[in-house]
Amino acid sequence: MPRGSNLERVSTFNQAVMLDHVRRSDSGISRVELVQITGLSTQTVSNIVRKLLDLGLINETGKISGRTGKPRTVLNIDPSSRFAVGIHLDPSVITFVLLDLAGSVVARSHVPIQAVADPDATVQKMSSAVDGLIHQAEISRDRVLGVGIASPGPIDQQRGAVVGPPLLTGWARVELRASLQQATGFPVFLDKDATAAAHAELWISEDRAAQHFAFIYLGTGMGSGLVTNGEVVRGSSNNVGEIGHFSTGPGGPRCGCGRTGCVGLAIMPAYLVGEGIAAGVIDAPFDDADLQNIAAQFRQLAAQADSGNARAAKILDGAAARLAWAVEDIANLVDVDRIVFGGPSWSPISKRYLGILRSTLANRLAVGSIHQVQVTGSLLGEDIAAVGAACIVLDHALSPRPEGLLLDGAVAGTSGS
Ligand SMILES: [Zn+2]
Repeated sequence: MPRGSNLERVSTFNQAVMLDHVRRSDSGISRVELVQITGLSTQTVSNIVRKLLDLGLINETGKISGRTGKPRTVLNIDPSSRFAVGIHLDPSVITFVLLDLAGSVVARSHVPIQAVADPDATVQKMSSAVDGLIHQAEISRDRVLGVGIASPGPIDQQRGAVVGPPLLTGWARVELRASLQQATGFPVFLDKDATAAAHAELWISEDRAAQHFAFIYLGTGMGSGLVTNGEVVRGSSNNVGEIGHFSTGPGGPRCGCGRTGCVGLAIMPAYLVGEGIAAGVIDAPFDDADLQNIAAQFRQLAAQADSGNARAAKILDGAAARLAWAVEDIANLVDVDRIVFGGPSWSPISKRYLGILRSTLANRLAVGSIHQVQVTGSLLGEDIAAVGAACIVLDHALSPRPEGLLLDGAVAGTSGS
């Protein structure tokens, strides 16, 4: 639980701490409770609450009676006071979401990647899609804090550039952040899809108390996001979590890196669909550049396994066991108490994989005799990377983290809303 400081010069930090506590309280919180949780003086809490009310970020939403004293006024976040846009640049489809301050998706749209020819056209398409979302939600642009983009890694954070995302020709090193900032007029943040997913899980997941977890992101490719001490781990260049070449044990397909069984190849839909076709479980043709078709065939393979096809089940159960092998290394390295799986390629196989992952990992984690490690699927669905990109915007603008103390700046431009 972040605590405040009574020094005047860090009042912005205190504002962010208090807003975070209000945001995370399910049924609202009183000033007295804020004093208890933050360690700030009654006067400081009262002043900051006044400021947050004036900024429109929170509301007074009724009173509760305690055993002693007068009834307390309940404070709640005002979800529609601010919004953030999240974009997920995936090799097959671009997803756009508009998130309110409570983390709810209030508008979403999708653009197939085939509809955009090159980076310049994509930026224009993104810009008009952002306008479309704002229009669809019928909100003022003044209330939008910024735009987050989640892209396959690695990324060049310094230049705000995506670096050769898989299967996107002409995208060798595209400075997307600056282009989109110019096109939309909003502040733009760029991050990896797996890191964005970890942000989403941290901001709006069911288990808000999670402090140490690994997020295993399964999309067209694979990556991981890490959270320790309640903070997203970034690494020296914001490229933490590149696990594509982690081993899934002996054997498996030969990877471009020269080894066999790399997780980024051995458990991905394209490879498993190929196995399914070879086993006669699903119909050819197979085109490894047609990602939409591969996704459809992967769902078909999962459906076959679920309906009792032994050959399909064998392929997927083997892949789940291989995935556990790689995940074991991640969990042991960072000592997490939660491993969360998610992303577009997770949904079709989530039920089947969870049982295998849980039973396999239960006996293999180094910390197994010290504490429990929960193995679970994210509830945030296939749009999690886009949702996470929007959460990064909220985090930068509103969270009580040293790098995110932009509250005054973030709301300065929206004071007229
Ligand atoms: Zn490899």
